[in-house]
Amino acid sequence: DALTGLPNRLLLGDRMRQAIAQTRRADHLLAVCYLDLDNFKPINDSLGHEAGDALLVEIARRLKGCVRGGDTVARLGGDEFVLLLTELTHIDECEAVLDRILATIGMPCAIAGHKVSVSGSIGLTLFPLDDADPDTLLRHADQAMYKSKQTGRSCYHLFNAEQDRRARAHHEALQRIEKALHNGEFVLHYQPQVDLRAGRVVGAEALIRWQDPERGLLPPGAFLPDVERHDLIVALGEWVIDAGLQQLGRWQAQGLDLQVSVNIAARHLQREDFVERLRALIDARPNVTVAGRLELEVVESTAIEDMSRIPHLIEECRALGIGFAIDDFGIGYSSLTYFKTLPVDTLKIDQSFIRDMLKDPDDLAIVEGVIGLSKVFRRRVIAEGVETVEHGIALLGLGCDLAQGWGIARPMPADDFATWVRGWQPDPAWSAVSRSHWPREDIQLLVAENNHRAWVDRIANLLAGIGDGTLPETDPHACRFGQWYDTLGRLRHGTIPEFAAIDAVHRRIHAIGTDALDLHAAGRDAEARNLLPELFRLREELVAHLHALQSSVATLP
Ligand code: C2E
Ligand code: MG
Ligand code: MG
Repeated sequence: DALTGLPNRLLLGDRMRQAIAQTRRADHLLAVCYLDLDNFKPINDSLGHEAGDALLVEIARRLKGCVRGGDTVARLGGDEFVLLLTELTHIDECEAVLDRILATIGMPCAIAGHKVSVSGSIGLTLFPLDDADPDTLLRHADQAMYKSKQTGRSCYHLFNAEQDRRARAHHEALQRIEKALHNGEFVLHYQPQVDLRAGRVVGAEALIRWQDPERGLLPPGAFLPDVERHDLIVALGEWVIDAGLQQLGRWQAQGLDLQVSVNIAARHLQREDFVERLRALIDARPNVTVAGRLELEVVESTAIEDMSRIPHLIEECRALGIGFAIDDFGIGYSSLTYFKTLPVDTLKIDQSFIRDMLKDPDDLAIVEGVIGLSKVFRRRVIAEGVETVEHGIALLGLGCDLAQGWGIARPMPADDFATWVRGWQPDPAWSAVSRSHWPREDIQLLVAENNHRAWVDRIANLLAGIGDGTLPETDPHACRFGQWYDTLGRLRHGTIPEFAAIDAVHRRIHAIGTDALDLHAAGRDAEARNLLPELFRLREELVAHLHALQSSVATLP
């Protein structure tokens, strides 16, 4: 560099390649530091170029004084310098040098009869932690230097390779999603929402999937987090609404009367023009009956910054005949405040509570509480994540008739939906339970009956070669029915004669069931099957006892 005598950009390139090779060989660290003076331009402008040049020469001299023999100080041009600090074994060594450099630069200089002070901002990256080529290393150091400037100058900032990688990946993900939207790679799957008591399908929740040509069908969890805080979620959300409306129209044309639920992200909902745009989407589909047939699901979350607008927004949508549901109710933030201020139609109990309600009494209490809340506030309540027949039984017992979950159906392509609706048979246990109202404590009684039936069924299936081959629990105290009988059942019904009568039958069933399993294990399946009629007879006997017990505790609806 003609002015300072330091290596220029070209020579710096050579030095970097050498330093990289040497660092690799010696297993050291190399710091590539980008330094920019903070207030050089005003000095240059006010005192003139010659003074400016003198200042640069002085800074160059000072920088060289701060580094070791094998290190490099280069000038890129203007007031920009690059330092290569070599043979570092730890980042601390580098910090000591940088502190020294900032302090030296900051010392006043006598230039053209004036005393001037400058400071420097440094960005650095560490090779091989940042394992990049010379140009990229310089770019990273430069990027970090801008962070220093933003932080308040006269400081240094270390380039964060991991952060940069994440930012880059995020940016690429956004671009891919935008392209996918443009190419029509998104699809909606639909999960049925049913009335367990009436045995009727009442609606379908639209759930987005990405049919990626390379990666296959991706669930929303694989891509929504990338867009949820970006305006792209608005375009995506509008696509979902429109696709949902089209599907609603197709089903209406087939004579299928359903409500379609669509999930809306907080960022989308908060757009000033949300209702206006929604109205435009609806108006563009004049053949679709929307009133009472579209529900928007919103997750309760802190992502909604200005809650005060939301009630009005809900009212405006209501005027269009569009309902609102609070999704994942119970796990979000300040549920009750939300609940009180939002004129929503539906509460969706979060699946985590449903999943564990039969194992965890606290979850059961929460489910019961949410159902109670919905009743007093006259809202619809629907349980999400109904995975088993027992969940349905318990929910009916608690007075929640609407349900959605894998125990009813998994989300499916739109084209399969009509066929599924025609073929759907609610579990017989649900209609049986629906006939009476159960005190909360006796929900387990219903579940126990079902568990007992399932136990006998498993033995029968095993002998018929159906099922996954796992053996039922033979100990009458360890099977799920037995566990109930010994604990909650005894506590609750221990004094009722029907309860005591159950024990002997249950033991007998286990004895015969165990015989059947032993015969099966010995390859004597024919003999084992001969025991089945007796097993079924005993099962009905036990169920009869249970029913007698149930009617003595059930109250009329
Ligand atoms: P969500 O709205 O609470 O939807 C229910 C999720 O639970 C769905 O996951 C569904 O497949 C799953 N699920 C249903 N029944 C069961 C069950 O019995 N057991 C279990 N373990 N899971 C069950 P999915 O499709 O992966 O969607 C996840 C979340 O992504 C949704 O949760 C929703 O918050 C969001 N999402 C889905 N589609 C859209 C969309 O179009 N727009 C927006 N903004 N968000 C969406
Ligand atoms: Mg939802
Ligand atoms: Mg949910």
